[in-house]
Amino acid sequence: MKKILITGAAGFLGSHLCDRFINEGFHVIAMDNLITGDLKNIEHLFKLEQFEFYHHDVTKFVHVPGKLDYILHFASPASPIDYLKIPIQTLKVGALGTHNLLGLAREKKARILIASTSEIYGDPLVHPQTEEYYGNVNTIGPRGVYDEAKRFQESITMAYHRFHGLETRIVRIFNTYGPRMRLNDGRVIPAFMGQALRGEDLTVFGDGSQTRSFCYVDDEIEGIYRLLMSDYSYPVNIGNPNEITIKDFAEEIIKLTGTTQKVIYKDLPQDDPLQRQPDISKAKEILGWEPKVGRAEGMKKTFDYFKTLSKKELKKTEH
Ligand code: NAD
Ligand code: UDP
Repeated sequence: MKKILITGAAGFLGSHLCDRFINEGFHVIAMDNLITGDLKNIEHLFKLEQFEFYHHDVTKFVHVPGKLDYILHFASPASPIDYLKIPIQTLKVGALGTHNLLGLAREKKARILIASTSEIYGDPLVHPQTEEYYGNVNTIGPRGVYDEAKRFQESITMAYHRFHGLETRIVRIFNTYGPRMRLNDGRVIPAFMGQALRGEDLTVFGDGSQTRSFCYVDDEIEGIYRLLMSDYSYPVNIGNPNEITIKDFAEEIIKLTGTTQKVIYKDLPQDDPLQRQPDISKAKEILGWEPKVGRAEGMKKTFDYFKTLSKKELKKTEH
């Protein structure tokens, strides 16, 4: 049985990856310090013999007994309000955490895939973003703690590949959504859906003309799985190229949820990227991958998930 270590396993993407690799017949070691994750996302796996959970902070030395075939490094705060609240931990998990996991991969002769992000392109001057674009990041701005940690993560991963011959993979993930996102994580979809469910107005930041391109979680996980199993060591964008302005997106959510609330406008956070859309030519060509789930279908599934949360949980998220 192949053995895989997944860091950030109690989070949104990590928990879906745990499900996927269990279903593929892997032994899964899930690791998380629960700083932004929730054990509820993986508790259904606890009864399985081929599943183990380690409560551990990956910025500290990482030890896993026995053999290891693969590592997926997904531990990191991912939402702007999370990484602005814990900036030093964000830098440390991207830098020290990645270093520890690369060292572990080297010791175990395991293949490692690291979760990078469209944020390495910063506020992009090239549109849509191809993997060849170097990006436009403000190193000393508040978002720099996340963007630069991820850029360092890519650099040290390529250095281990080139210098030690380690088998490495780099996925550049674009805005992904779906069940198990935290209702209060501040990202736009849980924010708008939480507001609709609580009967509050939807808060659009800036004038809402900034764009994003949202990928449903099942598509994202499929792309990550294919990249891990490929022999391609350079970064690959995985995201859905269907781009929308945040203002139009708010209107879409108002229709979907049937709320009678309206859109209100708040200040645009510093360095909020004005446009974002992945060029996925590489993923298509190398992995034979493209997204299958349209926004209407994906958003309905996501809203159905948020509706199942209890009133108490919804209330907790008021801010
Ligand atoms: P998430 O916050 O739901 O999950 C992150 C998990 O990492 C949490 O369970 C958290 O407790 C854990 N973690 C954080 N620091 C840790 C540490 N030092 N040691 C151990 N565990 C730690 O976020 P997510 O959306 O699932 O994102 C997962 C990964 O994917 C992140 O690396 C993120 O940068 C990347 N990513 C996500 C998106 C997206 O749209 N969801 C986009 C780009 C990149
Ligand atoms: N956003 C918004 N209202 C909110 C939360 C976010 O208008 O309540 C905007 C945010 O400014 C950004 C976009 O939605 O332009 C996506 O934000 P998110 O935090 O989801 O992700 P990221 O900025 O990292 O792409």
